[in-house]
Amino acid sequence: MRFSGMLVPTSRETPADAELVSHQLMLRAGLIRKLGSGLYSWMPMGLRVLHRITAIVREEMDRAGAQEVLLPAIQPAELWQASGRWDVMGPLMLRLKDRHKRDFCYGPTHEEVITDLVKQDVRSWKQLPINLYQIQTKFRDETRPRFGLMRAREFIMKDAYSFHVDGEGLAREYANMRATYQRIFDRLGVDYRVVQADSGDIGGTGSEEFHVLAGAGEDALAVSDAGDYAANVEAAACASPGPRPASSAEAEEVATPGKATCEDVAELLGIPLETTIKLLVVEGTDGGLLALALRGDHELNEVKAERHPRIKSPLKLAERERIKEVFDCEAGYLGVRDCPIPVIADHSAGALADFVCGANRVDYHLRGVNWGRDCPEPEVADLRNVREGDPSPDGQGSIRLLRGIEVGHIFQLGDKYSKAMELTVLDAGSQSITPVMGCYGIGVSRIAAAVVEQCHDEQGICWPQAIAPFELLICPIGLDRSEAVRDAAEALYEAARAAGIEVLMDDRGLRPGVMFADSELLGIPHRVVVGDKALADGEYEYRRRSEADAIRIPADHDALIDRVRAG
Ligand code: ATP
Ligand code: MG
Repeated sequence: MRFSGMLVPTSRETPADAELVSHQLMLRAGLIRKLGSGLYSWMPMGLRVLHRITAIVREEMDRAGAQEVLLPAIQPAELWQASGRWDVMGPLMLRLKDRHKRDFCYGPTHEEVITDLVKQDVRSWKQLPINLYQIQTKFRDETRPRFGLMRAREFIMKDAYSFHVDGEGLAREYANMRATYQRIFDRLGVDYRVVQADSGDIGGTGSEEFHVLAGAGEDALAVSDAGDYAANVEAAACASPGPRPASSAEAEEVATPGKATCEDVAELLGIPLETTIKLLVVEGTDGGLLALALRGDHELNEVKAERHPRIKSPLKLAERERIKEVFDCEAGYLGVRDCPIPVIADHSAGALADFVCGANRVDYHLRGVNWGRDCPEPEVADLRNVREGDPSPDGQGSIRLLRGIEVGHIFQLGDKYSKAMELTVLDAGSQSITPVMGCYGIGVSRIAAAVVEQCHDEQGICWPQAIAPFELLICPIGLDRSEAVRDAAEALYEAARAAGIEVLMDDRGLRPGVMFADSELLGIPHRVVVGDKALADGEYEYRRRSEADAIRIPADHDALIDRVRAG
């Protein structure tokens, strides 16, 4: 390709509305353009990256035995009513009506459509297992679209769905997809981790996420520093604390005027924050309120709380007014002695003795409080976020926290959709059975942004070669005045093309400074500068994008092509 023939609107300015480096760089490099909130156009250079990612995903899915299909983006409401999700999805799902006033949605995901498809055409156990995938546009009306392609509203996903006669077959395909995803992310050339995940609204059991590691990632990952344990913090269990020590103090009220947080109280009393307990008042499934007791230094894990059978999901903190009514006290001074509502304590809070909590009286706290003596023994549950340095729940080493960007998610769905949508097949004994399903997603467009977030420097993007828009960039200096440069650059360009290298010739005739700045910004892995001075010595100037310095190399096309091929 020749640069002059491509629409690559690069820019030096950092776009004002882009917070994340990847978003800024993708706009500055002219890879994408914003159409509206969470809506992006792919420009020619960006589309080349997207195509290369897609090609790797497709090759590996085909190799794994999955078959590609392409399902409509627009889906009839009836399918979602049949699965029970029409009412569950809420405003995330973009709903529309056709001219006959029939309800449709723009698919946020395709479990319903694929289950319906399989129901039409798969009748016998002999047709199973089957794994169907597509690479297609989804729409989710996200609450906060941001970071460009990272959390868009319209985005491209590879979604695969497998169907099996039994759980054993499903487990086998899940392992096959897990290995396939590892091959895909290995080939993409990114640093990633596989972590245990929460199954979210899709439901079912057994699910893992694939995360590209990056400091700006939205997800916190808990990883053991000694063993294999790795989980999204949302889903990471906390190791049980040791047994509760014996009590040694009497409960007494202390004045804590204006100190409404555990931090302030701990400071005032000169005690460690981890000996305090805070109460969070939430709505229960029975319509009443519940008090969740956590250590002052711990954070509530909303996902775990929502999984608790007595806590309402989605989690709802009680209104201040209602708390005041029930406790006859302001939030900030709530405690477990004479607590008017049931208490569920996080394990670690339940393991404390002689702790400090509110006195259920404004401007007062209690110290020396003990479960079972000053208040009833609480129900305990794992309710908090795991923290850096906590013991790993598998007993191997301790937890380190990393940040990640979720780029893939694999689930064992079980019969959730097949049952709801009455998908049955005949088994070997001609009995009707309900197949079990797996589903496997990859955020194809998000990968492009995640890679930039992980692979960049001050000057711009550093694409891994496997998905770079081009492998080799030729920058001729003085194209308009030097015939030798022009001839050498053209010869190199033709040789690289003939060798099947994805090569871009910067034939714009711009000043070297501008050309080089663009070359850094665009992040093409190999750059050759063809200039009169080096040519006179029979040499080119070569620079690998990931290395600081340029080197002189012999103007030998075969050797250069080998160098590019070697990566
Ligand atoms: P998230 O937790 O980031 O909202 P999710 O768990 O809802 O994602 P899945 O339903 O697991 O997403 O979808 C499969 C993949 O699609 C995700 O792993 C992610 O890479 C990608 N994806 C999901 N939502 C978006 C989005 N708004 N923009 C870009 N990619 C997305
Ligand atoms: Mg997910």
